[in-house]
Amino acid sequence: IKNVGVYTSGGDAPGMNAAIRAVVRTALYYNLEVTGIRRGYEGMINGDFLTMDRKSVGNIIQRGGTILKTARSEHFKTAEGRKLAYENLKKRGIDALVAIGGDGTFTGAKVFGKEYNFPIVGLPGTIDNDLLGTDYTIGYDTAINTVIDAVDKIRDTAESHDRLFIVEVMGRDSGLIALRTGIAAGAEAILIPETKTDLNALYHKLEQGRKDKSSKIVIVAEGEEAGGAFEIGKLIKDRFPNYDTRVSVLGHIQRGGRPSCQDRVLASRVGVAAVEALLKGHHNEMIGVINGEISYTPFESAIKHNTEINPALLKIVDILSL
Ligand code: ATP
Repeated sequence: IKNVGVYTSGGDAPGMNAAIRAVVRTALYYNLEVTGIRRGYEGMINGDFLTMDRKSVGNIIQRGGTILKTARSEHFKTAEGRKLAYENLKKRGIDALVAIGGDGTFTGAKVFGKEYNFPIVGLPGTIDNDLLGTDYTIGYDTAINTVIDAVDKIRDTAESHDRLFIVEVMGRDSGLIALRTGIAAGAEAILIPETKTDLNALYHKLEQGRKDKSSKIVIVAEGEEAGGAFEIGKLIKDRFPNYDTRVSVLGHIQRGGRPSCQDRVLASRVGVAAVEALLKGHHNEMIGVINGEISYTPFESAIKHNTEINPALLKIVDILSL
């Protein structure tokens, strides 16, 4: 391997910059060239490349977003788009890739790697924490801390006005953000796509504690089957017209901001391990950390959604929201 290409793709996540920095500096440490690819697969198709040096990743470890930018590319899903990407990589002399992103990014990497026998390893960069093969993904810790900071603030106003707040957090297919933040923010109930929501049980719960609790918070994951926060809010308003019920959708603030220490350290560890893995001949694998140790998981296993919800955590919510 002579020249490693690095790109971020799909939704941005805090800590992606720390991961880019680790990949670039590690490649230079091993005397490899490093090329940044802007806007993920779109940049590959358009030949949007830049040579990275030590300085190009200076002063970015603390910044949210991604200096390489990110995009979603329909073109890369076609064989013709991937052919253009391959030709550009070849022209530029890039002979290995580090992909930073989520399941879509790794699906693309898997298809491309197989098609052109191209060495690619991936770093888990997504706030959703929904990949198999790593305990945590880069961005998740920052995102859940952003959420609890926001919910704590909502709690202040809920408490002052005796209000019930329905708060929607990110997670189109995953309730992991909702579950953790719900526990940490002391939510009365948590609605997630992995479990079937019993609306009657929810109403009962809200009614029970209502008398002596002045504020209530219900956390709803974006992908909840019974509906998003507005739908749930409407159902609750219809059922309890006397409650002062408000809806708050946290939205994109959850993706932004300075990465937490944990995300920076995770990104740095897996970034170093990714380049070392390529040098050892690994490809088609996601690099993660399981129980404190670096782990290697084939893309096709990593992208199988982590839908397992720890039942002990769900029980905690029930016990502690009494
Ligand atoms: P997140 O879940 O955090 O948003 P992600 O990596 O899952 O991140 P996606 O938008 O799902 O984000 O995927 C990123 C890109 O990966 C897509 O825009 C597309 O270019 C590429 N990709 C996804 N699926 C495929 C596929 N089947 N074949 C080729 N490329 C794909």
